[in-house]
Amino acid sequence: NEWVDRLAPKAAAVVAVGTCATYGGIPAMKNNPTGAMGLPDYLGWDWKSAAGLPVVCIPGCPAQPDNMTETLLYLVLHLAGLAPAPELDEALRPKWLFERTVHEGCNRAAYYEHGDFDREYGGHKCLVKLGCEGPVVKCNVPIRGWVNGLGGCPNVGGICMACTMPGFPDKYMPFMGEDWKSNASTIPARFLYGPVIKYLRNWEIRHSGDREPAWRRPGAQLRTGYRPHWR
Ligand code: SF4
Ligand code: SF4
Repeated sequence: NEWVDRLAPKAAAVVAVGTCATYGGIPAMKNNPTGAMGLPDYLGWDWKSAAGLPVVCIPGCPAQPDNMTETLLYLVLHLAGLAPAPELDEALRPKWLFERTVHEGCNRAAYYEHGDFDREYGGHKCLVKLGCEGPVVKCNVPIRGWVNGLGGCPNVGGICMACTMPGFPDKYMPFMGEDWKSNASTIPARFLYGPVIKYLRNWEIRHSGDREPAWRRPGAQLRTGYRPHWR
């Protein structure tokens, strides 16, 4: 922290990268033997740089690389007078990167809606029964992927452990175990609307979407499907 004490007062912008630097992360979990904490805790959540910017947080364990470069480039453009100050959320994360939940970007979300859940790893359905915290975690990794757009924890079969959140890890322990809130949130999907929605959608697919329109048939008469609206 001597380096932070010396550099922060002179910095135009201070960027905390990774969950340890932003909010303390695993080194600052309960029983925190070293007194670890993130930069906003150390400098102050209202702290401002020489250029009037608060600490900018890019959390993640690890932080998503494109989130880092995009934020750094944005700050350079701002400091050059070519862009407004970055809009940050209440946890000092760039708002445009962290406003959606993991669940909102997950390619398994339709299974959650249908009440279809995997009970063991290796399947392709929703992982909430295996401990996925995606519905209550802000992170764009399922949309952005990890490398060249590939990956994104639940998209490729791993539960979301909430590594971008200020409450990580303590508020999401134990990992890899279903918690009662997640379990309660699945009850309506499993027993009320989920099976009904799934049945109606499958019916729609079988009886409409999977069938071609009637005029696409060989025959003596040309049938186009056109209906003059004046008749
Ligand atoms: S795997 Fe997780 S993020 Fe994806 S739909 Fe299920 S609960 Fe939501
Ligand atoms: S999806 Fe969850 S575990 Fe994966 S990087 Fe985002 S917050 Fe972390």
